[in-house]
Order: sequence, then C-alpha cells, then structure tokens
Amino acid sequence: MRVRADNPSPMTLEGTNTFVLHSADGASALLIDPGPELPAHRAAFLAAVDDRELVGIVLTHRHADHSEALATADEWAPGVPVHAVLPEFACRADTLVDGQRIRFGASAADEVEIIATPGHTSDSISVLHGRTLYSGDTVLGRGTTVVTHPEGSIADYLASIERLQGFVAQGRIEVIEPAHGPVVEDPGAVLAHYLQHRRERLEQVQAAVDAGADTPAQVADVVYAEVPANLRGAVEQIVAAQLEYLRRG
Ligand SMILES: [Zn+2]
Repeated sequence: MRVRADNPSPMTLEGTNTFVLHSADGASALLIDPGPELPAHRAAFLAAVDDRELVGIVLTHRHADHSEALATADEWAPGVPVHAVLPEFACRADTLVDGQRIRFGASAADEVEIIATPGHTSDSISVLHGRTLYSGDTVLGRGTTVVTHPEGSIADYLASIERLQGFVAQGRIEVIEPAHGPVVEDPGAVLAHYLQHRRERLEQVQAAVDAGADTPAQVADVVYAEVPANLRGAVEQIVAAQLEYLRRG
C-alpha cells in the first residue's frame, strides 16, 4: 500500500511515498520510509498497517523527508527494529548490507531483499519484493534524480543504475515504486533514459569547464540556465557532484 505524505515541493514532487507491505496471511507488515513528521501522515500509514503486527521498518536513505518520523518511532512503533545503512538510524537491528533479506511474515513470499544503490546518497538502498523494486530516491516517478554533494556520488549512481538495468534484463524487476511520484511501469526505458540524461549533463559540464567555468555556480549558469531560482541550491549541489566526478577522472 502506498501512503503519500502531504509534503509537496520541487524536490519531493507530490510528496514522500511511504509503503506498507502486508504479509500473505494478513498478520504482519513491513514499513518502508516513514517519511516526514506529520500527524496526518503518521495516522495514514498506521491505518495501512491496521491491526497487523508491524515487524520492521526499512529506511531507503538518510534524507529527512524519508527519515524524520523515525525520531518518534518509540511512540508509534515501540520495540520495532529499524533497518538502515547508517548506524545513527538503525535500531534493534544490524546496519543494512547489500543482499540482506528481511522476513516479515510466515510465507516464503513475505521477504524483501536489500539492493545497495548508492549515488543519490552513499547510504541509498532499494528494496526488492517479488518483482517490485521500492527505489527510494534512486529512481523517481517523474524527472530524474539529484545526486547530492557531498553525500552522493555520480560514479556510484551510474554504477547503481547499470546494476538495476541488469536486474531488469534478468526479469527480476518488473515495476519500480519510487519514493516520489507515480509507479514506473517501464523500468528498462526509464533507467536507460537516466543514464543517457546523466551522461549528456556530464558532457555539458565538461564543455562548460573547457570554456572557462570553474565554480559550481559558474557551471550552473551555463548548463542549468533554464532551471528556476527555487531549485538553484539543488542544481549547485549536483554540479558540485559532477565536477567531483569529472575531476577525479
Ligand atoms: Zn533523498
């Protein structure tokens, strides 16, 4: 079940999607990204859990629009393990590693696999359940993902997208449920578009540097001139990440 928080913004699109997976027998549930600390959102995702036992919480990455509600988890999910890559978020569980499986019910199908997908941030993971990938911010429902700096890395991001393409090619991913925006019904095409877009931007950034631009602001003036002022901070972050990638070779 998808529960969308009422925190719309240019970066969160319509808002953050929290997901509640129900076990086959209806007895238990797993929650992915509790989202922002908003009373109405908390009530909505707890209604999606309903009378099932909440057996775990998985965090896709550190950003507050995904993690903020964890600060009050002792109130709404007392004793429930929190699975996260970063030790400051993990609670009653070891920090997450690639390939880890988390069981949330009695049936063999009640299991998710953690896929490490660093790039947007270093601690970004995706959660595979059946053939549905809950991608956090690694893939979005619209537009493309921002690789943040210095938490993220373009090199890691490109590798993560290529890795997901491999999963799609193997038939292991059929749909992607992103943390922002609608479901992605054609993951292969979207992932290919992401790689192409990212490579085109890198070429544009390199051309701007070759033409004398030096700072992220100077590069952004050339490469992202059309981006509205309210997104300027995000743009300078991604340019910083791109410059780091290009300068590292
Ligand atoms: Zn994020």
